[in-house]
Amino acid sequence: MTINAIDLATETKTLLSELGVQTDRFTGGTLRVTSPVTGKEIGALKEHSAADAKAAVAEAHKAFLAWRSVPAPKRGELVRLLGEELRAAKTALGRLVSIEVGKITSEGLGEVQEMIDICDFAVGLSRQLYGLTIATERSEHRMMESWHPLGVVGIISAFNFPVAVWSWNAALALVCGNSIIWKPSEKTPLTALATQALFEKALKRFVAEGGQAPANLAALLIGGRELGEVLVDNPKVPLISATGSTAMGRAVAPRLSQRFARAILELGGNNAAIICPTADLDLTLRGVAFSAMGTAGQRCTTLRRLFVHESVYDKLVPRLQKAYGSVSIGNPLESGTLVGPLIDKQAFDKMQSALAEAKAAGGTVTGGDRVENDASEAYYVRPALVEMPSQSGPVEHETFAPILYVMKYSDFDEALELHNAVPQGLSSSIFTNDMREAEAFVSARGSDCGIANVNLGPSGAEIGGAFGGEKETGGGRESGSDAWKSYMRRATNTINYGKTLPLAQGVKFDV
Ligand code: NAD
Repeated sequence: MTINAIDLATETKTLLSELGVQTDRFTGGTLRVTSPVTGKEIGALKEHSAADAKAAVAEAHKAFLAWRSVPAPKRGELVRLLGEELRAAKTALGRLVSIEVGKITSEGLGEVQEMIDICDFAVGLSRQLYGLTIATERSEHRMMESWHPLGVVGIISAFNFPVAVWSWNAALALVCGNSIIWKPSEKTPLTALATQALFEKALKRFVAEGGQAPANLAALLIGGRELGEVLVDNPKVPLISATGSTAMGRAVAPRLSQRFARAILELGGNNAAIICPTADLDLTLRGVAFSAMGTAGQRCTTLRRLFVHESVYDKLVPRLQKAYGSVSIGNPLESGTLVGPLIDKQAFDKMQSALAEAKAAGGTVTGGDRVENDASEAYYVRPALVEMPSQSGPVEHETFAPILYVMKYSDFDEALELHNAVPQGLSSSIFTNDMREAEAFVSARGSDCGIANVNLGPSGAEIGGAFGGEKETGGGRESGSDAWKSYMRRATNTINYGKTLPLAQGVKFDV
């Protein structure tokens, strides 16, 4: 079947109803959603107003006041049930992700698997929100550190991981005793509706099984950035976790700091890999191809800059060019496709202007052109490989499209310096079998990114590690390790169980 002939509107309706969303939630509204697969409309959602958003914060705050007193392992039980609902709905929700974002089938399913994984992680965590006992200088005293729920957590998410980002935040925030309000990307509200419906199903089961949960524990706001702004400016929202472009972070961060609110900022990346003389080139080829072309270059961790040692340049780059020329591009819902469409025309235009800039700066471009098919409103592109004489112009910015800039290097330290010489600091890789180079790359003088890998590409993180990046990537950490601490407040408690009152530092104050 040609792409243009696929009826995704009907399939979307069927999937949403299977996932528990009422038809009137995604029909007859003002927020029109198109599938990047066909470029055609698949839903029209009713939007919330700023007043609705404000009211939702007030309700979520009330929910927090009750939820914070539910024991953490019991809160974990709700997240366990959410994980079960996601397991049962994996095929349908994964398919919906593919339809709404244009991800290939395995990546749509992979996104839901990530949601399941973080639920499992958070369930275990719900019994491990531990503090410390600290030695005190005063006799018959005990000093300890405890972690308490924080409040309403505002989650603002980007289009390219339309539901996984919510789950990283939601699963942790909920076990930590917080209520949540989600403002998904206006480009991907349908998968958000479906995810919210699955959460509500889990909540119903939780309550039916005797769990205590307040109303309005998790809310969903449908609409544009102005709803995000209501969350950002509301004093009843102590933490905003915002995922998106650096431009968004630049607008949000000062407003949050103005009211001393906390921020988890997960912003743009400009991820690089260094290919050293001893690299296993077969493995490198696969690692680079997936990281640079996967998800049509629309991951925050997509590989965008490649530094190749001069001794292996002529062995690797022609093989890469061949891979770029033969990769299967097209309908992401068909098995065998590796590269689906760009999200929209705006993304296509940005890609074309970056390539024009690269050419003007002396770059040699392979690919990058639009792949013609009968879906005239969809934007399929051949991934672009651009050999650059130096790291300049568009190489220094994130263009959210499949463009890989390739540069030759001769000296390892110089490559490392160039690697770190961009404003972003999300993910990075080195391909080498030289132990000194590998260790140097992950050391304090190596990659300055939040993620630094050896012999694998920069994209495709697991939920067990803390995820996030430095510099203009925003500094936030989500998901695994001790990222949960961002969703709680820390209290230092000192308890005097004696009959005297010794003061710290030997201070005397007898009245
Ligand atoms: P975007 O910045 O256009 O939008 C992201 C979200 O922010 C949307 O929900 C949008 O409505 C909201 N928003 C925008 N301006 C706002 C404002 N002033 N106040 C409040 N909310 C506002 O991003 P996008 O195009 O959806 O996503 C792509 C970008 O996201 C890329 O730069 C990518 O690297 C980045 N990203 C980063 C990560 C990460 O973990 N670091 C993950 C995914 C995507």
